[in-house]
Parts: sequence; structure tokens; C-alpha cells
Amino acid sequence: MAKYKKAPEPVKIRLRKNDLVEVTTGKEQGKTGKILKVIRGKNQVLIEKVNLIKRHTRPSPTTGQGGIVEKEAPVYVSKVKLICPKCATSTRFRITVTGEGKKARVCLKCKELIDG
Ligand SMILES: [Zn+2]
Repeated sequence: MAKYKKAPEPVKIRLRKNDLVEVTTGKEQGKTGKILKVIRGKNQVLIEKVNLIKRHTRPSPTTGQGGIVEKEAPVYVSKVKLICPKCATSTRFRITVTGEGKKARVCLKCKELIDG
């Protein structure tokens, strides 16, 4: 039987599209951006303008001008931290249930609800 590379342990990703996050480690450390996409199967997120990779493209009749195109590469969720929109710092948060019975994230620093 063919051996398959073991899929990464699924982690609970508590980040969502459009969340503002900060990269906490690696060469992109300190950079902040908005989450463009959450890739749950890989425990990764795509962050706007973070971890850009350069793709060289050749000029062709279909793409027109060739050159270098910058594109976001995914970052592991373990390397990013949510930024609280209220206190504007990267923060830890917990999940709470609001009065309406909805799940929401609460900033542990300013105790404000992160989700509207
Ligand atoms: Zn806060």
C-alpha cells in the first residue's frame, strides 16, 4: 500500500477571515495583516501582504507583460496572534457565550468582545 504523508493534527482555528493578526515568529515577525483565507486542513492562514513570495512570469500572449508577481504564501496559525480591534495589541482571547446565546471571542486584556 502506498504510504501517504500524515495529515497535520487538526487544531482548532479560532481565527476567521478578515481578522487582523500579527505574526509572532519567523522572518515575517511583527508584521500585521488581515486574514484573507483560513486553510483548515493545513492549519494555515493567508494574510494580506504577509509572507509574500515572488513568482516570475514570462511574457505571453495571454498574460501580457511578464515580470515578478508577488503573492501571499500561507502562514501556520501557530505563528500568528489575533489583534484586538479595541485595544489594538496582539492579545489572547477566550470564547464566551453572549446573552443571545452566540459564541463570541473576548479579549483578555480589555475584556471587550472582539466579534461585533
Ligand atoms: Zn482588547
